[in-house]
Amino acid sequence: MQILDGKKLSETICNELSEQVIRFKLSTGITPCLAAVLVGDDPASRIYVSNKEKACQKVGMESRLFRLPVTTTTEELLVLIEELNNDTNVHGILVQLPLPEGCDELRVLDAIDPKKDVDAFHPENVGLISQGRPRYLPCTPCGIQQMLIRYGIETAGKHVVIVGRSDIVGKPMALMLVQKQSLSQTGADATVTIVHSRTKNLSDITRQADILIVAIGRACFLTAEMVKPEAVVIDVGINRLSDGKICGDVDFDTVKEVAGAISPVPGGVGPLTISMLLLNTLRAANLSNVSE
Ligand code: NAP
Repeated sequence: MQILDGKKLSETICNELSEQVIRFKLSTGITPCLAAVLVGDDPASRIYVSNKEKACQKVGMESRLFRLPVTTTTEELLVLIEELNNDTNVHGILVQLPLPEGCDELRVLDAIDPKKDVDAFHPENVGLISQGRPRYLPCTPCGIQQMLIRYGIETAGKHVVIVGRSDIVGKPMALMLVQKQSLSQTGADATVTIVHSRTKNLSDITRQADILIVAIGRACFLTAEMVKPEAVVIDVGINRLSDGKICGDVDFDTVKEVAGAISPVPGGVGPLTISMLLLNTLRAANLSNVSE
């Protein structure tokens, strides 16, 4: 059984990125810059944004944090987004979700310039992914795809079962893995099934998976009986237990006894998500340089 070490992989990717950022700065004079918008005081969101800022600094990118009170209205947020869209020194814009109740999340995300939409949530970017010509890949699915590629896990012709159909993880992951594989897009050509809370006989389907990707937000939901021997199991979940510890959606201790490979939580998909955000920010800076 192999542990898919996302922490180590993300360090490798960040080292590669640091070198690319140095070369980009030298050739263009531009420092890639990510603007992060944080509304309200949610402790988890504060930690996520702070980790993203630190990661930017580590690879030589600029990060700007815009902290707004919980009382911020949709209209006020839209004004800030417009300013960031027009600021040529800002290349990527990230609005930390969830937004406080009362803020219209879709209106805010749709207002981000698609060329600065480094989370790849804008309908234009989702459409491009669906057509197999992505501008950006969404950070978590992209991190998972990198994990599969870099660990040499073949996806072509394999049955991938994705548990969870969110717009952030499950759906874009399926779109990416089902694409026709090309030289520039490996980690695809899979046969993909998505299951969700309305799926009947869910375990019968998960047991057919060569690769299982679980993103539902239910601590230790996936148990050993739901996994085919030697399957690859990727755990996306981040659940905080009552004792403060973090655990995934997979019951790691039992599933590791049957799986061929498994990603841990913490130290699996999470760190890769941040690396992919940095990759997209560098890409955004590149795109702005090309179109200017
Ligand atoms: P979400 O938007 O809440 O979606 C959860 C999905 O799981 C929904 O499609 C839901 O089905 C499905 N689901 C819930 N309970 C289920 C059950 N008992 N059986 C089958 N399906 C079930 O969640 P998300 O944003 O995708 O996040 C999922 C988890 O991943 C969370 O723990 C989140 O913190 C974590 N996450 C981690 C990262 C990372 O970087 N590692 C990034 C993003 C998210 P319905 O659609 O039918 O309701």
